[in-house]
Amino acid sequence: MIPALKSRTSPPSKTQKTVAPLLAWFAANARDLPWRRTRDPYPIWVSEIMLQQTQVKTVIPFWNRWLRELPTIEAAAHAPSAKIHKLWEGLGYYSRVRNLQKSAQLIVDRHGRRFPEQFDEVLALPGIGRYTAGAICSIAFNQPTPILDGNVIRVLTRVFGIAGNPKEKSINAQLWALAADLVSHARATGHGDYSCSAFNQSLMELGALICTPRGPQCQQCPLKRHCVAFKEDRTESLPHLGKRPTATVRRFLAFVIERKGRFLVRQRPDAGVNAQLWEFPNAEVGARGSDPLAVYAELRGLSPAQGNPESLQPLCTVKHSITRYRITLEAFLVRLPKNAGNSGGDWKTPAQMQKLAFTAAHKKLASAAAQSILTDR
Ligand code: SF4
Repeated sequence: MIPALKSRTSPPSKTQKTVAPLLAWFAANARDLPWRRTRDPYPIWVSEIMLQQTQVKTVIPFWNRWLRELPTIEAAAHAPSAKIHKLWEGLGYYSRVRNLQKSAQLIVDRHGRRFPEQFDEVLALPGIGRYTAGAICSIAFNQPTPILDGNVIRVLTRVFGIAGNPKEKSINAQLWALAADLVSHARATGHGDYSCSAFNQSLMELGALICTPRGPQCQQCPLKRHCVAFKEDRTESLPHLGKRPTATVRRFLAFVIERKGRFLVRQRPDAGVNAQLWEFPNAEVGARGSDPLAVYAELRGLSPAQGNPESLQPLCTVKHSITRYRITLEAFLVRLPKNAGNSGGDWKTPAQMQKLAFTAAHKKLASAAAQSILTDR
């Protein structure tokens, strides 16, 4: 339900004072992002899924390649699993791409190949939560559906001086209601054809460019005259997110095993973390210790006497973070003699490995593996 506009004589509400300056600022300052040049829900949907947990500048080349290779919902629905994983390789959080394909298949089967326009139908698609459904419905269809993610939470808690923890149920509900009120007001005031679309994007954009987590650029902000955090010098304390969970350290040993110019790789199972992606044989070990030779022998099913290859050399160490995990992957190069037996498993040349989708860390090992052959020549 759209709230009635107040008469011209009543003082403007804080909602009103927020919407107009943000829309004007967005019109003058919005970044020219490729998915902003269309109102087709398919590319907008793909951008929203890619942007979950990933920065804009990282997403742009992935989005361009995806739309070039799979330009329609039907193409995404029918693409081989290996292809969608390869197109997603390096973006991480691979359940996103599997859900995207499941949704594309549902749209083809149940919605006559047309992306649904009803909010509830969009929300029912795999991998689409309340935020993403709101983003797609507002951006593509100009519906007054609210959005609330980290950027929007930061802007709203600061502008309106909301001190409670946004993860708490009541505060979260208050923020959703506020976001709904704002986007409804954007539609009611009729700022241009696509005012709901522009308003929600203006909130996201302000959070990304101006109202940043640290060092917000309040002097450049269109909302500074009405912003509680700015006026009361509370930008450091809002939003109040509580204590972050402490990081967990994890350590893995991986083995880049080469025989006659090919490397032993394996595909992960269909379910679980990094499902269906490729990797080098590896095992998680304790933060300290664990003899690489013993781990290698166990992985290869060798007896301790057999697990003694002459050339088990340190290859490289890859450090990365996923959610709260700080992961170290130590890789060793193992050169098997040309006449070595036990060559079961998938043995791939560097050219063949390039066509497979690896996790980001193991892709670095694949590059190091290819390099090891070049330097060996
Ligand atoms: S004035 Fe500062 S704290 Fe307030 S919304 Fe703008 S950038 Fe954020």
